[in-house]
Amino acid sequence: MTLVASSADALSATTPTVPFLDVGAAYHELRDEIDAACRRVLASGWYLLGPEIEAFEAEFAAYCGSGYCVAVNSGCDALELALRGLGIGPGDEVVVPSHTFVASWLAVTATGATPVPVEPDAHRPTIAAELVEAAITPRTRAILPVHLYGEPADLDALHDVADRHGLHVVEDAAQAVGARYRGRRIGAAPGVVAFSFYPGKNLGAFGDGGAVVTDDPQLAARVRLLRNYGSARKYEHEMQGRNSRLDEIQAAVLRVKLPHLDRWNRRRAAVAQRYLTGLAGCPGIRLPQPPRDTDPAWHLFVVRAARREDLRRHLARAGIDTLVHYPVPVHRSGAYASTPLPPGGLPRAERLADEVLSLPIGPHLGTAHVDRVIEVVRAWAG
Ligand SMILES: *Cc1c(COP(=O)(O)O)cnc(C)c1O
Repeated sequence: MTLVASSADALSATTPTVPFLDVGAAYHELRDEIDAACRRVLASGWYLLGPEIEAFEAEFAAYCGSGYCVAVNSGCDALELALRGLGIGPGDEVVVPSHTFVASWLAVTATGATPVPVEPDAHRPTIAAELVEAAITPRTRAILPVHLYGEPADLDALHDVADRHGLHVVEDAAQAVGARYRGRRIGAAPGVVAFSFYPGKNLGAFGDGGAVVTDDPQLAARVRLLRNYGSARKYEHEMQGRNSRLDEIQAAVLRVKLPHLDRWNRRRAAVAQRYLTGLAGCPGIRLPQPPRDTDPAWHLFVVRAARREDLRRHLARAGIDTLVHYPVPVHRSGAYASTPLPPGGLPRAERLADEVLSLPIGPHLGTAHVDRVIEVVRAWAG
């Protein structure tokens, strides 16, 4: 979606439109290689769970620094199948962030388990590790941190809690491919980590895709069964799995893109740094402040503003596209309206839903566009 300024607005009439994200730019950058990869698959006559998937799984596991990767049909499936692979299901509870994309909760409920929301840190978009313990009950089986906006959650603190209570940690890294936490790549062993290759994510396919990355061979084997009808050999079904296969064309495209991911993420970090410098001290907005020992993937650049709608309209009038991640807290959505809430509710999640605003960011966003966004935000702040 691109919002175009009204012609009556003299300021915007002469300025370029800044798109939120140019999803097609990566294709144009790598067109010849991607076209060749797709033609190779089309000509091969093998379209599902073949050599491209096998090669991609090996390459992506190596990239993450873990033993196994199982490619599946989406990030949401990756989370659900990781949970099911760990034996989590009806009667179990999984601690989830109150502030996240709905898929983090949907994956839990799809297993039959119950999501138990915990609020984010006061200064960060990710789950507050020190609040997790109070949400744990005898039914709790796992903690599901989300590296929201590409910023790693506090994994060491969460693993401490998990270890004390004998819980699994299943990471939602849909927005954090390539990020690092205390020098370690998100996805590195011993994590159980779900990724998404939705087109708008940092490593995007030309359709849906996802992956479970783990160092546990048994878990990898179970997820492999679950994604293909519970079957390792045709017509032998050891588990009640389903169809969550990634196709060969998507795997071939992801193999072309993967070697460029770190460069693209560095470019995202440069855009983020330019915003952080250019908007420092700007009244009326709060900037993201990831801890120094993390390298976010900068999937999104999210500011907070009490007068968010006013800022958003101001940017739209100048032809600058923005999005809100996410305008309705999950527990306020129809799907989860009957979720029992902790005493006092989830005020941090609700406040974030009212205040967050995502500015344009991406590996192909030009410096002039970044500077234009900074200029327009500063003009709004006065
Ligand atoms: C995109 C996303 C998902 C789901 O990924 P899909 O591939 O769209 O199913 C899950 N969690 C978060 C935080 C996401 O951003």
